[in-house]
Amino acid sequence: MTVREMLEGQERQALSPYAALAGNSKGRQVPEPECPVRTAFQRDRDRILHSKAFRRLTHKTQVFLAPAGDHYRTRLTHTLEVAQIARTIARALRLNEDLTEAIALAHDLGHTPFGHAGESVLDRLLPGGFRHYEQSLRVVERLEGDGRGLNLTAEVRDGIVKHSKGRDGDLLLPAAGGPATLEGQILRVADIIAYVNHDIDDAVRGGMLSETDLPVRFTRVVGRSRSERIGGMVRSVIAESAEQPRIAMGEEVRVTVLGLREFLFERVYFNPESRREFEKAIQIVEALFRHFLAHPEEIPPDILAANAPGDRARAAADFLAGMTDRYALATYQRLFLPKPWAVL
Ligand code: MG
Repeated sequence: MTVREMLEGQERQALSPYAALAGNSKGRQVPEPECPVRTAFQRDRDRILHSKAFRRLTHKTQVFLAPAGDHYRTRLTHTLEVAQIARTIARALRLNEDLTEAIALAHDLGHTPFGHAGESVLDRLLPGGFRHYEQSLRVVERLEGDGRGLNLTAEVRDGIVKHSKGRDGDLLLPAAGGPATLEGQILRVADIIAYVNHDIDDAVRGGMLSETDLPVRFTRVVGRSRSERIGGMVRSVIAESAEQPRIAMGEEVRVTVLGLREFLFERVYFNPESRREFEKAIQIVEALFRHFLAHPEEIPPDILAANAPGDRARAAADFLAGMTDRYALATYQRLFLPKPWAVL
């Protein structure tokens, strides 16, 4: 018996009847021999962690554009906070922690530079639109591994493409229309729990909010400090979802999470100062997109190879979406700003 077979046996014994078992995975895009040591989901998690797209999350915006302060979240630290919250919930519910972690680490791989500013430009300019969760799936299915993709399991790919609630979507979705696994459903709540709380924290750090500004109708339910709020939200998910075939949250807490999110939209995301920076970022991404559309020969060959030969817009979008904030800024500078004359 291999180590992997032993681990699969442990999952069958220890996990909830509602858990997705690695031994029952629907399999990969292209069949391949199993690893003797790791389960299919552990292997997916490792492939994601070792990908280039994962490392680029270090220099992608969460909310504050290319922040100079060392303590602001980036897309990478957001991803790690989501993974930690999701794993806590998965373990408490005896669901598959490895699957949850793999989905969490990959969920935002498709995010553009400058956060939603970049996403809004590509959505407007790319025929068929652009959504970061679909791009995350594209990264793991065809862009990583020099155009071969990571060949992940069906369960991880499903969780990635269905993780995002959007501004108007439902937070809690059943399997019909939502993620096929409870582990995927956990991601939707872990993502919002993470960003609502760390965006408040960063907005306080950035001088846009004070913690005392949070409406009492919300702090009364989940507490005022970040740690109290996260703990309260996570406990509510665990209590309402235990031994259930779905992921739920107490109604009062659900209203509070969504209310805090709307509060952030008004006070932080659409604040005039962050809006001004947002507009500048939009101009940069738009100029870059138009440039690479006109000069596809400047797009890296592996990205061109992953696209149909005539589909310049899709290739330009793939290149743009993969850029970090600093790479986009440096490219813009190189292409559009005059170089200081250096010969003395
Ligand atoms: Mg996210």
